[in-house]
Amino acid sequence: MADTIFSKILRGDIPCHKVYEDDLVFAFLDIGPLSYGHTLVIPKEEAATVDQLSDETAAAIGRVLPRLCRAIKAVTGADQFNILQNNGLMAHQAVFHVHFHIIPKPGVSEGLVIEWAPGKLDPTEGAKLAAALSAEIGA
Ligand code: 5GP
Repeated sequence: MADTIFSKILRGDIPCHKVYEDDLVFAFLDIGPLSYGHTLVIPKEEAATVDQLSDETAAAIGRVLPRLCRAIKAVTGADQFNILQNNGLMAHQAVFHVHFHIIPKPGVSEGLVIEWAPGKLDPTEGAKLAAALSAEIGA
């Protein structure tokens, strides 16, 4: 995997405002915040997209995310927030090292603004798709 700006932050080659660190996970303030408190949570493992993460690192991120969210809520005073995780250029990923955004939502037009255009799930197609996914997962 190519060296990214986040690898440089992890190595301490470029500065950041660190929020949290353990053996597997690192969190710091986003340099271009969508709202006050916008924080990035990254694995120390070098992986470009979330599907490439090891189970151990994925579990470590999952374990710490709620704690980071509680701290961000307490400090910013925003009681609502989004967690955003982009994978791939079309999906708005700019830095190809896995990262989870925690973005406080202090007001309707602040923080993450989402355009959401839902379709309609066809029951027959849904059953086939769910079965295919389950088989692929091996569950
Ligand atoms: P993406 O679009 O890949 O999900 O988001 C990348 C995020 O990384 C952006 O929100 C951007 O502001 C942030 N970012 C990019 N470069 C730096 C940096 O050098 N330092 C920090 N703290 N954040 C960065």
